Amino acid sequence: MRVEARPSDLVGGTPLIDLSSLVPNHNATLLGKMESLEPCSSVKDRLGKSMIDQAEKDGLLIPGKSVLVEATSGNTGIALAFIARERGYRCILTMPETMSVERRMMLLALGGEVVLTPKETMVHGALAKANEILQESGEKGPETWRDTDGTIDIFVAGVGTGGTVTGVSQYIKGCTEFDCPPLMPELYTVAVEPQEQMLITEARGGTKIGPQGPHRIQGIGAGLVPEVLDIDLLDEVVAVHSSKAEEMTLKLWMMGLPTGVSSGAIVEAAVQVCSRPENKDKIAVCIIPSFGERYFTHPMFAQTKTKAEALTKQPLPEPFDNTE
Ligand code: PMP
Repeated sequence: MRVEARPSDLVGGTPLIDLSSLVPNHNATLLGKMESLEPCSSVKDRLGKSMIDQAEKDGLLIPGKSVLVEATSGNTGIALAFIARERGYRCILTMPETMSVERRMMLLALGGEVVLTPKETMVHGALAKANEILQESGEKGPETWRDTDGTIDIFVAGVGTGGTVTGVSQYIKGCTEFDCPPLMPELYTVAVEPQEQMLITEARGGTKIGPQGPHRIQGIGAGLVPEVLDIDLLDEVVAVHSSKAEEMTLKLWMMGLPTGVSSGAIVEAAVQVCSRPENKDKIAVCIIPSFGERYFTHPMFAQTKTKAEALTKQPLPEPFDNTE
């Protein structure tokens, strides 16, 4: 019998799924790392757990007394609220008003206290967590390496805080943060950002494509080049338009894989990279950061909403504006 004692024991150890059928002619193998299957459905559950574990280890928290306060774009807050509830801490989260109503509902239902902020104020607060982010992302590196039996050639991740892409690449390519020799310095790291906000591309000396402005890919494209992102570890940045990301997200749903829209952007980029002749027979791992049910108020579900309304013969509530 294998039984976990606490909800937080379920964090980590996410599986890989074969997405190679999306790659034309199966030119390369594409695997999705299912962070969407974490207990609270996102890539940030590990971070919430490791931040609280660390603070407890450092003697900073007293159950029943300590209050956690965090600025969050949503998923980090949900992870913190979830662990705080388990361990008996009060948790106050400030989040930008543009984030989806499902995220607010999750936070509140988990007993978190939510303070909405204008969107400009969020990024800086959330990015102050650089060290913690690297700490949690380091866990995804070992898992990715172990579960591909060290055969990974290409790694693809979206950039929100940059923690995931930096942490995994550092672990596999090798750097001073980790106490081991480089596993594979030639790993090809691909970062994904919205085409409407090509700040990382620009920071690497590339050219922006098309109009720049708001985008609809929650979780990536935070509106600045995050401090924790180590640009030198990136071999390429692929920019994906929100409409392409939405198209791929809905395709994933139709494969029986409900994901969020950043997963669609990341898979779209990964498929592009995997389709190139020079990547024939290579093995790519891409991150699937979040589960899809948290996104029903996203405009990509407008058609689904219309169908649901036809079925029930009554209008559903207006979607909350979470397009930015
Ligand atoms: N997708 C989603 C849905 C996210 O919540 C996040 C985290 N903000 C990311 C992608 C990007 O991950 P990271 O912050 O590690 O760059």
